[in-house]
Amino acid sequence: MPDLPPAALRLRLDAGALAANWKTLDVMSGAARAGAAVKADAYGLGAAQVVPVLAEAGCADWFVAHWQEVPEVLRHVPGAGISVLHGPMNHADVGYARATGVRTVLNSLEQVRRWREAGGGACDVMVDTGMNRLGLPMAALGDPLLQGLQIDTCLSHLASADEDVAQNAAQLARFAEVRAQVRARRYSLANSAGIGLGSAYHADVTRPGIALYGGIPRGEFVGRIAQVAHPEAAVIQVRTLQVGDQVGYNATFTADRPIRAGVIAVGYADGYLRTWSGGKGHFLWQGCRLPVLGRVSMDMTIVDLTGADDCGEGDWLQAYYNLPDAARASGLSQYELLTLMGRRFARFT
Ligand SMILES: *Cc1c(COP(=O)(O)O)cnc(C)c1O
Repeated sequence: MPDLPPAALRLRLDAGALAANWKTLDVMSGAARAGAAVKADAYGLGAAQVVPVLAEAGCADWFVAHWQEVPEVLRHVPGAGISVLHGPMNHADVGYARATGVRTVLNSLEQVRRWREAGGGACDVMVDTGMNRLGLPMAALGDPLLQGLQIDTCLSHLASADEDVAQNAAQLARFAEVRAQVRARRYSLANSAGIGLGSAYHADVTRPGIALYGGIPRGEFVGRIAQVAHPEAAVIQVRTLQVGDQVGYNATFTADRPIRAGVIAVGYADGYLRTWSGGKGHFLWQGCRLPVLGRVSMDMTIVDLTGADDCGEGDWLQAYYNLPDAARASGLSQYELLTLMGRRFARFT
């Protein structure tokens, strides 16, 4: 097979910003160490790019959701630092954990039994303190099955740390009970937003995800976290619209003046959703703001090149993708904006 020609769609990962964000979150975690949630292919940015950068910055604790996400992380860091949040559903999962040395998170007494029957060893335990998602219920903590279990990290997860609500303190109080009842080498409660709640929430290890990648989950992070993901698409055709010309599916835009328009190689199949249609989204070229004209289609978006007279076919445009602003403008969450980004992006640092 001949080499593929260069892509017309790419995602630039600012490795310097990523490393700086981790260091900021590690400092904000106080006496605790910051780890990294790298599930969902590092929130869509590409674990293959993200993990080496964070390892170099000093990160040693990695969190994925699925067992299938382990190999990409394991290529770059030791298995003993990787936790698999979904836990072992069967003997195949248990066998895989034992063979790779990655830590399984145990989420139920059934999973504890399954792990012990296979020989046990270092593991993590998730306790539910009020989210009712994964984890042992508080009522199970006295169970004899937990006695003598070799627990590396005992975890719980905050449901509403991005808000100032009573649930945070309630979960913290329950986590104090967990710490009194479950013997573990380390304890871990805070996601990104939880780091912003202050030292009471930090325990021994924090598990930031979204803030590593440029998300701002709470006010404490404003001005301290930098954008990491920069989607860019090439102009694949330039055309001139005359007054009355209509643009895109269902002709939702009609030119009221002559307009130079650029067709660019990104669409909703890439995660640039139709919500950005009709000027809600814009791209940038040499500081010039280029609004979206008409509807975003599957593989293409049309932008207004007014003011970018020198911009032509083959030139790269940057999507405006500052996460908090883009979330407000689109109604999507900062998490969705990142994890949406599709496989056609050539990911590079
Ligand atoms: C996804 C996840 C995190 C990271 O959360 P952010 O809000 O992205 O910082 C931490 N812990 C658990 C258990 C998670 O599932």
